[in-house]
Amino acid sequence: MTDLHRLSIRELSEGLKTAQFSSRELTEHYLKRIAHIDPKVKSYVTITAEQALAEADAADAALKSGNAHALAGIPLAHKDIFCTQGIKTTAGSKMLDNFISPYDATVVAKAKAAGLVTLGKVNMDEFAMGSTSENSYVGATSNPWALDHVPGGSSGGSAAAVAADLAPIATGTDTGGSIRQPASFCGLTGLKPTYGRVSRFGMIAYASSLDQGGPMARSAEDCAYLMNVIAGHDAKDSTSINKEVDDYVANLNGTAVKGLRIGIPKQYFNVAGLDADVKARVEESLKKLEEMGATLVEVDLNMTEAYVPTYYLIAPAEASSNLSRFDGVRYGYRCENPVDLMDLYKRSRSEGFGAEVQRRILIGTYALSAGYYDAYYVKAQKVRRLIQQDFLKAFENVDVIAAPSAPTTAYKIGANLSPTEMYLGDIYTLAVNLAGLPAINAPVGFDKDNLPVGLQLIGNYWSESQLLSIVHQYQQNTDWHTKRAAIAEENA
Ligand code: GLN
Repeated sequence: MTDLHRLSIRELSEGLKTAQFSSRELTEHYLKRIAHIDPKVKSYVTITAEQALAEADAADAALKSGNAHALAGIPLAHKDIFCTQGIKTTAGSKMLDNFISPYDATVVAKAKAAGLVTLGKVNMDEFAMGSTSENSYVGATSNPWALDHVPGGSSGGSAAAVAADLAPIATGTDTGGSIRQPASFCGLTGLKPTYGRVSRFGMIAYASSLDQGGPMARSAEDCAYLMNVIAGHDAKDSTSINKEVDDYVANLNGTAVKGLRIGIPKQYFNVAGLDADVKARVEESLKKLEEMGATLVEVDLNMTEAYVPTYYLIAPAEASSNLSRFDGVRYGYRCENPVDLMDLYKRSRSEGFGAEVQRRILIGTYALSAGYYDAYYVKAQKVRRLIQQDFLKAFENVDVIAAPSAPTTAYKIGANLSPTEMYLGDIYTLAVNLAGLPAINAPVGFDKDNLPVGLQLIGNYWSESQLLSIVHQYQQNTDWHTKRAAIAEENA
């Protein structure tokens, strides 16, 4: 079969169960595509061919015995921020260039237990700091829709791999938009779950109170399958919540779009820098949802202007603390010939971390320092609470809130925006993490340059099923999620 990469997760699962093809054939098919096409996209940083084939054979044996998990034998790619036992985990940093984790992240362990086959690890901005994936020490990944454009970030490798059909599904992480924005830039569906729904154990920390892992795929249905595997309480992560997990696949038609109240924040559609095509495509998608029976209700999110400054104090503050463990002593990069301990710390960190990471460490350390702590960090935490309250108030009148995922489509590689310009591009995603809410990106069309546009739907706490269900029904009535970049149509 030459077009196994065009099948959905449900079709792959059925094909494997009924022995139309084996996991080995499927895995070889993807490895061949990666070998031929990924040199142009550069989404993978590590390809684990040998291990993948061994996992595929094990899945085939389980499938034969008849008691395999629904996803057994299906390949996936992991963002290189999830620790993988015996396989390099770099987090896109020279600091971890040679780091081999002694254990698996819980997300990775769960994927393995379900029989999913790991094709490899995919590129990302260093320590998940960025919006283009250009901050990776191995260099940029390309957007499959236009190779001279970025795939978004920080989970840009995950998005590019799926959009080029170099993996049917991938894991990502979202601290301030890193699942939703690359999904938007690459024409994919990506879900950022409620904080605490997916274990952070073994997921290299950027900003611990904001980080959350989630699925990236072509459709809501594909995301639901992966959520069924990775969601749930984990005793190894004290912030993961001990709350029953929905069956996201069974619930795909569980929320009625008819009668659904969709909040339209009046502040969001007048943001300076919102691209006209993005605005138009998002409004068209909302019109479609209206035709399907939803009602649009204006809501007031007064704190919109505070999102960027609040996030860019809290995230760097937590990052500066989390990244203090990389000191050149215990593991990771160490400078050559240090003259004393201070020299070892200083040079290992200056040589091991890239420019954006160093910038964040400086901002974070400043915000946490005695004398500035109350003025910056404590103040930001208070504003964070107001942002959350703003959402909770809106949810008294609406079921979900709609927004673009990003004000623009994908940037050109090397566009070299200033840090503040880059940070402003996160305006629509940051508040969701500050409030700990779930949100999803769905592809809803293209701009004049044929670059994908995404709609973001933000839900109340634990509404992952509802979000997946709304997008699933939208996708039953539209075909944006089935559109493929030219490079994905290439055969290996
Ligand atoms: N672009 C944001 C940042 O640089 C979000 C990144 C993320 O979600 N990991 O912090």
